[in-house]
Amino acid sequence: MKDKGKNKKLNVLKVILTLIILVLIGVLAFVLARNKVDEDEKTLAYTDLIKEMSQSDVEKIEMTVGSTTVKVKMKDEEEEKTAIVPNTEAFIELVQTKVAEGNEIELIQKPKGTLQTIGSTIFSLLPTLIMVALFIMLFKMQGLGEKGKVYDETERKTKTKFDDVAGLDEEKEELVEIVDFLKRPEKFVKMGAKIPKGVLLYGKPGTGKTLIAKAIAGEANVPFISMSGSEFIEMFAGLGASRVRKLFEKARKLSPCIVFIDEIDAIGSRRTSNSGAETENNQTLNQLLVEMDGFGTEETIIVLAATNRPEMLDKALLRPGRFDRQITIPTPDLKGRLEILKIHSKDKCLSENVNLESIAEDTAGFTGAELANILNEGAIIATKRKHESIENDDIEEAVKKVTVGIEKHSRVISDHDKRLTAYHEAGHAVVSQYLPTQTPVKEVSIIPRGVAGGYTLYKSNEDKYYVSKTEMKEKLVALLGGRAGEKLAMNDISTGASNDIEVATQIARDMVTKYGMTDSLGPIDLKGKQDYEINLFGDAIGDKIGEEVKKLIDEAYVSAQNLLNEHRDKLERIANALLEKEKVNESEFNEIFGE
Ligand code: ADP
Ligand code: MG
Ligand code: ZN
Repeated sequence: MKDKGKNKKLNVLKVILTLIILVLIGVLAFVLARNKVDEDEKTLAYTDLIKEMSQSDVEKIEMTVGSTTVKVKMKDEEEEKTAIVPNTEAFIELVQTKVAEGNEIELIQKPKGTLQTIGSTIFSLLPTLIMVALFIMLFKMQGLGEKGKVYDETERKTKTKFDDVAGLDEEKEELVEIVDFLKRPEKFVKMGAKIPKGVLLYGKPGTGKTLIAKAIAGEANVPFISMSGSEFIEMFAGLGASRVRKLFEKARKLSPCIVFIDEIDAIGSRRTSNSGAETENNQTLNQLLVEMDGFGTEETIIVLAATNRPEMLDKALLRPGRFDRQITIPTPDLKGRLEILKIHSKDKCLSENVNLESIAEDTAGFTGAELANILNEGAIIATKRKHESIENDDIEEAVKKVTVGIEKHSRVISDHDKRLTAYHEAGHAVVSQYLPTQTPVKEVSIIPRGVAGGYTLYKSNEDKYYVSKTEMKEKLVALLGGRAGEKLAMNDISTGASNDIEVATQIARDMVTKYGMTDSLGPIDLKGKQDYEINLFGDAIGDKIGEEVKKLIDEAYVSAQNLLNEHRDKLERIANALLEKEKVNESEFNEIFGE
């Protein structure tokens, strides 16, 4: 009954959407036609522009700040042409190099006329907006489309095996019995054993949850049906629940099999408010619970679900007979990282000198996906550098690229800024050298990378589960060492410390409100996970939190300044070495410290 009404609603919607799309196509065609007018004569493709510039055919280039359209005047032509430049900054640099190479190109940069720019921006965005709207519409239509295609789960046998999953030995051991069950269910049934219906995998993105779920299916040689929780959440009410129903219908047909629901928090989050989206979620969640309760042990279906936000899940999901088994997938430890690096370097051409052990040591906290990405970046860098095979340097560069961004050699930096950066980074490095809990310096540089003007890299710690208060306090000192270095040497401070300040404030705040590390407030969780919890303690406590955070930061800043005052000679020597060489590595650094 309910379904019939829904079908009607869908049909009406279909007609409306079709009309909207037809109108949009009309508008789009009109806009495109208008843009097309004598386009060939007056516009110049970007690649052609580059070519012309190299052939010294260009006389003048005029650009308006903030616009990607430039006017180009050729030497042998009267009329100006226009060209679209994908990246103006890079383009200006390119023109400048061409000029430096001896090409006579006049580059004019005009300030923008606001009104005109706004108008042209809107106009130039119009086609894109229409395309995007069209796209979204089409997508939604497909979701509504023929019955068979209501959802697009992937279903196939996977070739992934446990051997493809590095580390995670205990977790694999726990999951072996599920593989056994899928292979020989009758054995378990005869014995009267109850096998879990659902297993929840907790873990950060990229830790290998999908991978291990696939490996279970691969080991048992059963189909792997997967869907993501966010796919269940739809614009039109009721669809989520019917998708769940269809998913399990299919699973029953394919049994024995694995059903994998990624991002289950999207449907299974706690039922709190009554907003539309929430009710929709509830229907979907309820349907999932009904389905899981509905199949018995005769049906050999194991539901695996993954989330990185276990605290968000509705408790109903965790009851016996549902997801009664939970497995945490941790970020890999040193041994795990090494194994992951080994697995992912199998199909790569690595040079003899690559030291995967030391790469593993340098990447504490990285997930499997990040490590795989680093090896891939390393291969790209090696190709760019025209190496025969991937060298250790290439991978180290990849690690830095992933952690701090790409080196920007071309950026022009004033001497003043360079000095400021040198003292800032030297400040971090020198201060942390005198802090017992902080890890040794690995590299200091004043070559800009990503958004940072310079950086100090530390050797990574052995994997740790707990961080002490002393360590956190010293971390604050190390973070504020940059600002202290600027202040001491230049008697001025800069915006360069903003990220340090942000991180330091966050740490200090956590120390006070999350880890209960102050005497005056004590071990209370003052962070609050729900809105009302934040107000639990009133303004007086709020003021106190602010005071304590400020005290921690102030103390750390004073310590940093004291340390630098005391070791001023070291600060000067590191900063000077940086100004001279731009980069100071571990051994050069230790030499200055006489180790
Ligand atoms: P999640 O589902 O937890 O977000 P994935 O399983 O999608 O993570 O992992 C993404 C990719 O990272 C995998 O395809 C694999 O290449 C790599 N990866 C992650 N963890 C591991 C691991 N333990 N062993 C080998 N590769 C891994
Ligand atoms: Mg995944
Ligand atoms: Zn800094």
